[in-house]
Amino acid sequence: MRQSKVLTIGEVLVEIVATERGDGFRQPVGLIGPYPSGAPAIFIDQVGKLGQAAAIVSRVGDDDFGHVNLERLRRDGVDVSGIEVDPLGTTGSAFVRYRDDGSRAFVFNIRHSACGTIELKGAAAALAESCTHMHVMGSSLYAPSVVEAVLQATRIIKKNGGTVSFDPNLRAEILNSPGMREALSVVLAETDLFLPSGEELFLFSPAGSEQEAIANLLKSGIKAVVLKRGAAGASYFDKDRQISLPGFKVTEVDPTGAGDCFGAAFVTFWLAGADPETALRYANAAGARAVTRSGPMEGASTRAELDALIAEQRS
Ligand code: ATP
Ligand code: MG
Repeated sequence: MRQSKVLTIGEVLVEIVATERGDGFRQPVGLIGPYPSGAPAIFIDQVGKLGQAAAIVSRVGDDDFGHVNLERLRRDGVDVSGIEVDPLGTTGSAFVRYRDDGSRAFVFNIRHSACGTIELKGAAAALAESCTHMHVMGSSLYAPSVVEAVLQATRIIKKNGGTVSFDPNLRAEILNSPGMREALSVVLAETDLFLPSGEELFLFSPAGSEQEAIANLLKSGIKAVVLKRGAAGASYFDKDRQISLPGFKVTEVDPTGAGDCFGAAFVTFWLAGADPETALRYANAAGARAVTRSGPMEGASTRAELDALIAEQRS
């Protein structure tokens, strides 16, 4: 059997965070950053940190924000040969400020940054041929060229006998953009593992209840649904089994990145042939550790760190 290798495609950004809570950026406010970020980048960093072969296709500028990301991803074992460094481009960014109620105000520079023009050509296309699993991030479907690259890589990996996971973390403006429903239905048709969070369960399966939504998704050809429930943990569903595990008890400092680290751990253990309960336990541990650190990628964990959290909460 070929050694498994996970691919994702999408935004590589820096995140710059307001140091005081409040509503947005209409007045001067203290900032801290840059932190390496972007949902697919956080996901793939966590996959790499667990020792699973991993790669990402993206674009950054030849600037400090790009190099912050390249260095972190390389350090954590991610193949960055599919990240094109554009000498004339600028790396994407997200300014984030938490409001008192825990919601977030953002200023994004994604579509018009270097990662707005990702394409699956040359080295990136060859990389797709070498990978056995594709992880699609809903947040990455922000520009037509990126959507095309994601669909192309998904087809290549499926044609080669690989598998696909899909985290539908879509922002509303993405969902309603032209052609998006069609693109999403193509992705869904290829999805083996669907990883929604909360209400995202109902995005493609408008049903009256959770059970009904899950039954519809499993009937459509998806092999398993993994539903993230924040601090309450997560559940796994396939045609034979339903498993729910509570969340680990931790102090939440910064929720950003929890879903991405959770998904990365689940996919890594699933690909390694772990039973769903084990994969779910490690995924819950990865999500829990992610929220204990400020900075979106700072809470990615090693296998030893996940084992330590699991052992600590067992005793
Ligand atoms: P994100 O904000 O990164 O998109 P998400 O909405 O996709 O996250 P969540 O359900 O918020 O996903 O979190 C993913 C997982 O992380 C949860 O299923 C759980 O395992 C873990 N998790 C999140 N928040 C907490 C918390 N406060 N305490 C313990 N575990 C948590
Ligand atoms: Mg999410």
